[in-house]
Amino acid sequence: MESILVSACLLGANCKYSGGSNLCPEVVALKEIYHLVPVCPEQLGGLSTPREPAEQRGGLVLTRSGADVTAQFRRGAEEALRLANLLGCRKAVLKSRSPSCGAGPIYDGSFTGTLVPGRGIAAKLLLENGIAVFTEDSLPGKT
Ligand code: SF4
Repeated sequence: MESILVSACLLGANCKYSGGSNLCPEVVALKEIYHLVPVCPEQLGGLSTPREPAEQRGGLVLTRSGADVTAQFRRGAEEALRLANLLGCRKAVLKSRSPSCGAGPIYDGSFTGTLVPGRGIAAKLLLENGIAVFTEDSLPGKT
C-alpha cells in the first residue's frame, strides 16, 4: 500500500491553533487505499497547541500580535519533508489555506480572512522536493 503524508488535523487530531481539528471524513476514508502518515508541521516546528494564529506576510510568518514564528514554520516544514522521504511518500494531502499546509490560496497576513495566491511553508517545501500536494478539496484520484 502506498504511503502518503496527511495533515494530522484533517484526520481529527486536535492540533489546530485553536486546539480543535479539521476532521474531514473524505480524507479519513483514504486509509482504505493508502497508508496515511499524519504530520502537523506547526507542532513539528515546536509550536504549542493551542497557539496564536499566524499568517504569512512579507516573506515572514507572523502571529496576530506580531511575533515572528518563521523559524518554527521552516523547521516544521523540514521535519515533514524528512518524514515524507523516510517513509517514501510521494504524495501529500494537506489542509487548504493554512500558512503551513495550504497549497493554492492562503491568507494574506491581515487576519481578515482575505485569500491571496501562495503556498504554505511546508506545502512549498514538499512541492520543491517533487512531492505532489493535494488538499481536502482536490483529493488524489479526484482531480
Ligand atoms: Fe493542520 Fe497543518 Fe495547521 Fe497542523 S499545521 S493544524 S496539520 S493545517
